[in-house]
Amino acid sequence: MDKRCIVELNNINMVYHTLEEETLALKDVNLEIYDGELIGIVGPSGCGKSTLLSIIAGLIKPTSGSIRVKGNLVEKPLKNIGYMFQKDQLFDWRNIISNVVLGLEIQGRLNNETLEEAKELLENYGLGDFLYSYPYQLSGGMRQRVALARTMILKPDILLLDEPFSALDYQTRLAISDEVGIILRENKKTAILVTHDIAEAISLCDRIVIMSKRPGTIKDIIDINLTCEGESTPIKLREAPEFRHYFNKIWKELDIHVQ
Ligand code: ADP
Repeated sequence: MDKRCIVELNNINMVYHTLEEETLALKDVNLEIYDGELIGIVGPSGCGKSTLLSIIAGLIKPTSGSIRVKGNLVEKPLKNIGYMFQKDQLFDWRNIISNVVLGLEIQGRLNNETLEEAKELLENYGLGDFLYSYPYQLSGGMRQRVALARTMILKPDILLLDEPFSALDYQTRLAISDEVGIILRENKKTAILVTHDIAEAISLCDRIVIMSKRPGTIKDIIDINLTCEGESTPIKLREAPEFRHYFNKIWKELDIHVQ
């Protein structure tokens, strides 16, 4: 893989202030993310994963430390970033194609050519028959594919995925994470996936960052190398002989105790 660093986090600290208290959410976070890699972030709830994504996107400013994306200091919200969240955030009153071109419309880039691109993308994602349907007519998995199309049509440099599959039932989740993983690989996208699902992270990611409980620090970064005969799709990678080893290692390091 090309080892060009695309995101660089240097000594990030984040303190939230409320009237009642100060919360140290992130402490001394240093991380380099490489072009084209899929990096997972796992950690206990409240350890600062969403905060970290917002900092990378330039949506919040850390208390101290610096972020560089493609070598440039991030000081305001970035434009070349795509998002996928747990909730697909489709607009119920817009049909599928209108939802997908929303970003293009806002950026003044909607024309016949980009509209055709959007239709083609939806066809590639198996949604060619649903261009003029409304979100409520689609299943949860299909809606997430629409959300991905809406993001991908803007050709973002980096994708931030914040628990994008966790509202889906288990079967759909497996299928859609497999599809999204394949799409990201084919497009050589740099993506950061926050998830609480260890198996999902192992099957999709090149590296996994394990965060400690609050204040969130990076406890470990694990390179994932799974061997697989034939086509290495995320679902097939779950059968790799090394899978269980990574799962146990990450599980131990997460040190989660049920209260
Ligand atoms: P995670 O995504 O890992 O669950 P978050 O980044 O959402 O964690 O939150 C990290 C910590 O910062 C939590 O303790 C949370 O309560 C606190 N926090 C997050 N956002 C705010 C905010 N806007 N104001 C005050 N505290 C916040």
